[in-house]
Amino acid sequence: MNFDILQSPFAFLHQEIGDITHEKTLRAYEDSWEKDGRDISAAIDRNGTPWLRMFNPQGKRIDEILFPREYWWLLKSGYKAGAVWRVFEEDSLLTSYLQGYITSFYDSGLYCPHTVSLATAVSVEKYANESLKQCFLSQLLKKDDTVSQGATWMTEIKGGSDLGGNTETVASQNGEHWLLNGDKYFCSNVQAEMAVVAAHVEGSANNVHGLALFLLPKFRQDGSLNYLIRRLKNKIATRSVPTGEVELKDSEAYLLGTPDIGIYLIMEVLNVSRVANSMASIALAQRALFEAWSFARQRHAFSKPIIEHGLLQQQFNDRFKQLRSGFALSWEAAKLLDEVWREKPPYSERYHLFRLMAHLSKYWSAEFAVQSSKWAIEVHGGIGVLEEYGVERWLREAMILQIWEGTPHRQILDGLAVMEHKGAHLLLFNYLQDRTSKEALEAMRRRVEKHLLLPKEVKEAKSEALFKDLALFTIIALA
Ligand SMILES: Cc1cc2nc3c(=O)[nH]c(=O)nc-3n(C[C@H](O)[C@H](O)[C@H](O)COP(=O)(O)OP(=O)(O)OC[C@H]3O[C@@H](n4cnc5c(N)ncnc54)[C@H](O)[C@@H]3O)c2cc1C
Repeated sequence: MNFDILQSPFAFLHQEIGDITHEKTLRAYEDSWEKDGRDISAAIDRNGTPWLRMFNPQGKRIDEILFPREYWWLLKSGYKAGAVWRVFEEDSLLTSYLQGYITSFYDSGLYCPHTVSLATAVSVEKYANESLKQCFLSQLLKKDDTVSQGATWMTEIKGGSDLGGNTETVASQNGEHWLLNGDKYFCSNVQAEMAVVAAHVEGSANNVHGLALFLLPKFRQDGSLNYLIRRLKNKIATRSVPTGEVELKDSEAYLLGTPDIGIYLIMEVLNVSRVANSMASIALAQRALFEAWSFARQRHAFSKPIIEHGLLQQQFNDRFKQLRSGFALSWEAAKLLDEVWREKPPYSERYHLFRLMAHLSKYWSAEFAVQSSKWAIEVHGGIGVLEEYGVERWLREAMILQIWEGTPHRQILDGLAVMEHKGAHLLLFNYLQDRTSKEALEAMRRRVEKHLLLPKEVKEAKSEALFKDLALFTIIALA
């Protein structure tokens, strides 16, 4: 098998989906990564966490993140190529996701700012009033270096999985503004000009239904800082996105939508980033396989390149097939989201089908990224664990892809919930009916329905095997 295709994310995308709109733009984007971006990205990863400058020389709090100039060039070239503005100009997410795939082949951390800015823009465009849109959306959609960034801050110190129970940030109304008080523990793209933030409306229920979504600008109307950045996290990877802790003290914010549908707005933010995470995971797996293949061609053992030994060859073949079928699942989730991202509650059946597909693809692709990057280290032997050769980086990055936007546990349990409450498995089986045998569909349907009838504790405890098999079943049908 010829693995040459692995070296170019664009070439792989082209092979998998055929003609690509904006081919020239995406090729040029990839070229800029090859020429300069990959070295900048490697340097940022090796240098570690950027620096937070909290005070100016006059002792005033400024909370600036210090990155080298090259970082800003790299980050902004993604915005300029259309990571956010193109979605609204063309009313489609798909080119942005393809661009994100290319970004993630080189640096999945850098894809985070593009993704959270897009998710912010989607929330503002769908749920803000006209004057807010004029003020904030227009900044997010700029096509030049003056573009503003967004961020999505939900998680607090007590934990992100149980968002309803663990969110302590409270919002109280104060004229046209809401005032937010609380701390956000994981704030990626913390240097953004605005963020969408989850908070409990004062006096609301301490569960997901008490949550609302707010737009939080970096500066108050009087020009002062609207919140403080307490510190930056020292992370094992995704170092090209600064993740900070944020203190909200009477921070001015704007309500998006209405509080009664707040949790749905939060889920819509996650929809955008979970699909991005799935694309990023497959791209990272491609990168890991590429690194492994490049090495295996020139490393000799027992008188020939190690790639020519049967066992390794077989492993490459298997992983390459999995890469292609994993891409099919992630791309299907992207295409379904492209159909439903403009919906507002109450949602259509198509939306619930998308949700199940997104949980399956986030779950499967992130695990595949971890396994592939671990295996790429193994192919390099001892060299694989040395920082200087860089292949260990992809495992560090993959570990984060598995956790943020919801851990594997969360994907499984949310996947179960959408099957149980919305019959999403039936929508899935209907969707796949022309792509697999009737008998296989019927057997899987019976298995899922039997599982859903189990008592809650057992149902959850035994859900992983079912969910994994459902992901594989879907992948095989799609591929
Ligand atoms: C680098 C990085 C950047 C991040 N950036 C952001 C950001 O910008 N914005 C943001 O909002 N969040 C961000 N996060 C937070 C991320 O979304 C959370 O880490 C994630 O949702 C999990 O929450 P937690 O870490 O609090 O784990 P917890 O919720 O405390 O969970 C701990 C463990 O328990 C498991 N668990 C929880 N409930 C169950 C259950 N019912 N059944 C079985 N297992 C369960 C979890 O799966 C996990 O394995 C970031 C995280 C990282 C690592």
